[in-house]
Amino acid sequence: MTITTAPASAAVDAAALRPYEAHRDGESPNRNLTPLSTGLNAEGRLVVGGCVLSDLARRYGTPLYVLDEATLRGTAQAYRKALASHYPGSALALYASKANSSLAITAVVASEGLGLDAVSAGELLTAVQGGMPPERIVFHGNNKSLEELRLAVDLGVTVVADNWLDLEQLATLSLAQPVRLMLRFTPGIECHTHEYIRTGHLDSKFGFDPDQLEAVLQHLKGCAWAQVSGLHAHIGSQIFELQPHRDLAGVMADALKLARDLGHPVSDLNVGGGLGIRYVESDDPPSIDAWVRTVAEAVARACEERGLELPRLLCEPGRSLVATAGVTLYSVGSRKEIPGLRTYLSVDGGMSDNPRPITYQSLYTAVLADRPEADPTDTVTLAGKHCESGDVLLKDLQLPPASHGDVLAVFATGAYNASMASNYNRIPRPAAVLVGDGLVDLVQRREQPEELLRYDVLPERLRPVT
Ligand code: PLP
Repeated sequence: MTITTAPASAAVDAAALRPYEAHRDGESPNRNLTPLSTGLNAEGRLVVGGCVLSDLARRYGTPLYVLDEATLRGTAQAYRKALASHYPGSALALYASKANSSLAITAVVASEGLGLDAVSAGELLTAVQGGMPPERIVFHGNNKSLEELRLAVDLGVTVVADNWLDLEQLATLSLAQPVRLMLRFTPGIECHTHEYIRTGHLDSKFGFDPDQLEAVLQHLKGCAWAQVSGLHAHIGSQIFELQPHRDLAGVMADALKLARDLGHPVSDLNVGGGLGIRYVESDDPPSIDAWVRTVAEAVARACEERGLELPRLLCEPGRSLVATAGVTLYSVGSRKEIPGLRTYLSVDGGMSDNPRPITYQSLYTAVLADRPEADPTDTVTLAGKHCESGDVLLKDLQLPPASHGDVLAVFATGAYNASMASNYNRIPRPAAVLVGDGLVDLVQRREQPEELLRYDVLPERLRPVT
C-alpha cells in the first residue's frame, strides 16, 4: 500500500511557535523531555514537527505514537559528530533496533549513515527492507534459530556469536565465504540500573563467560568458515554513570589483545549501548557527546597502553536515539474519584502500548496536549484500559482538570514502547506517524480488532453447530 505524505491539517510554521521546554542541549535530545521541534502555537496548544498534537489525535485516532523526524535525525547526527570528533580511528554507531523497529525509522537512520543491530528474523527483514546496507548490520541473539542464522548469512550481515550453539549451528551451514563473526562476552561490570536491563555482570544470559573467551578464540582458529572481525560487550540500559563505560574499555582492550595475540586480525570493538535519557525532570543523563567522548577516549587510551593498533569503534545506542523523538497521544475517558484516597483518570491505551511502567516501574512525564501550561490543580493516577489493576501509566500526575475527550501527551515514549507492545486483552496496537516541517506520514497502520483473529484456528469439531 502506498500512502503519501500529507500536510498537517493546519501546519504550524516553526518561527511562529513559543518555546515549551527550555531545551537543555540542542545536540543532545536525550537530555530533554520533549522532542526538539516542540513548541506552543498562538492558542497555547502543543506542536511537534509543525503539527498540532491534538489535530493528529483527531485525524489518526488514539492511542497514537508520534515520532519527530528532527529529533531522530538530530540524535543520529549527534552520535556521528561525537564519534568523529572524539575517536582518532574510524567509528560507526549502530542503531539498536529493538528500541523501535520499523521501516521508516530504519530508512531515517540509514540515510544518516548509521548501521543497525537486529536480534531476530523480523528485525533483520525490517532493516534490509528499510534500506540498511547489510554490511552495516550486526545480528545478535542469545538463542538464534538455525533459520535465523541462515537468513543472516544469506543476507551477508555480521553475526554476533553469543554461545557455543551459535558456532555449532553456523558450522553446519554450507557457506560460500567465511562468515564475519563478532564474539559477545560478559564483561563482568556492574552498573546501577533496573536488574532486568542489566546485562554486563557475570550472572547474565548473554554472551560467552569471559573465562571461556580464550577457548573460543582457539577453537575458531581451526574454523575456515569463520572470520573473527570483532568483539562485543554491552553492560545494560538507561545508565547515567560514565565510569562503567570507562571500565568496559579496559576489559575489551584486554580481550582484543588476547584475540590478536592468538592470530585473529580483529578490527572492530563494539561497546554496546546503554546511555540513559530524561523521562522525568529529576533524571540527569550525560549528553551524547559526553558519553561518546568517555567511551572513545577510554578505548583509545586502553589500546595505547597495551600497544594495540586502534580498532574501529562501534556502539549500539537504542533508547538514547529514539526515545525523546516519541510522544504517545491518548484520549481521556472515564474518571473515578475515591474520596480521600485517589482519583483515577483512564485513557484508551496502557500496558499493551507501553509495558514499561508495569514491567520496570518506569516513570514518565505527561501533559494535556491543548493546555500544557494550565494550572495543574488536580492530582490523578493515569490508568490504562486493561483488565489488570497494575495497568497504571503514571501515579500522582499533576494535571489541570481533564475530562472525557481531552488529549493527553506522554513524552519520551519513542523507545521500548511500540517495539514491546502486545495485544493483551486483544487490544489492537496503535498507529504511528512521523512528523516534520508540518508534514505527517503514517508509518504504522493501526491494527484492527478483526485482524487479531488472523492467526486463530477453530478446529472443525469445535465449530458451533448451527
Ligand atoms: N546492544 C545490545 C546488545 C543490547 O542488548 C541493547 C539493549 O538492551 C542495546 C544495544 C541498546 O541499549 P540502549 O537502548 O540502552 O542503548
